[in-house]
Amino acid sequence: MTAFPLTFRLATALAATLAIATLSATPARAANPLFPQLYTADPAVLVDNGRVYLYVGHDEAPPDGKDFVMNEWRVFSSCDLRHWTDHGAPMKALDFRWAKGRAWASDIARRVVDGKPTYFFYATVEHATIPGFAVGVATSDSPTGPFKDARGSALITNDMTRQTDIAWDDIDPAVFIDDDGQAHLYFGNTVLKHARLKASMTELAGPIDVVPVKDFTEASYLHKHRGTYYLSYSQHFPEETAYMTGPSATGPWTPRGVIMAKNTRTPTIHQAIFEFNGRSYIAYHNADLPGGGEFRRSVAIEELHYDADGTIRFIPQTEAGPAPNPSPGCAG
Ligand code: CA
Repeated sequence: MTAFPLTFRLATALAATLAIATLSATPARAANPLFPQLYTADPAVLVDNGRVYLYVGHDEAPPDGKDFVMNEWRVFSSCDLRHWTDHGAPMKALDFRWAKGRAWASDIARRVVDGKPTYFFYATVEHATIPGFAVGVATSDSPTGPFKDARGSALITNDMTRQTDIAWDDIDPAVFIDDDGQAHLYFGNTVLKHARLKASMTELAGPIDVVPVKDFTEASYLHKHRGTYYLSYSQHFPEETAYMTGPSATGPWTPRGVIMAKNTRTPTIHQAIFEFNGRSYIAYHNADLPGGGEFRRSVAIEELHYDADGTIRFIPQTEAGPAPNPSPGCAG
């Protein structure tokens, strides 16, 4: 019998497959979790030039895993909080040559240095020679990296704080640059700590202070809204998101209660709060992707609302996520 050339038949089959794939992809999937192609956790957010950049840890544990497997961070960006561009891995844990691995929670800041926008990436990793977890800082001239270790050594090591003897009490960096240019770093597990950063952003400017917070677990995050400072964090275990407010970046802090409830499929939760196109949002993680769990989490976002007195309304987790919010002049 006469047949079409094999390549033609393959091409036809491929075209049909693509058509089916396109059709079946037509009904819009729920917005949350944001990245169905991989497990992600510990979001950090930067809004830059009308675009949102979302940095996450990449959970690579197998389905029956009993611990975190996290080797790299990933970065995604969006012009509308609905369509996300995957920029791959801006950095891996072992890019800090003094680290043993473990790409845990990070945060991001932008500062103009010598007239040039510079992006500072603060990240938790396990130290290779100083027992315990450490915080490193890396820089790039692009928000999507690649980021390079800015010091060749850790910014914070476990032996610099001794309030607890656990190995992971100096994790989860949160960086905030105040209106006067002073940069602050909050971090910690079990005990919340704070230090000022020098203008270089790569050195501490003073001592590490302890911030007394009842029931504090981890994931501190500082943001400012209409003149008030908001210090949010995870409390208890399993964790829920709570926050405090204050008149300055260092308080004094008034507890304001819980804004997001515990997850059902993972004991952790980790927030980043940001403003984009005149609206406020919270990024967080749960474990709601198929196959998800404690070590296979997934990042999501919700709109966040302030009441007239400046308090944050409780935020239910949704599959729908926020309405699209297209950024003028931002494309792709
Ligand atoms: Ca310590």
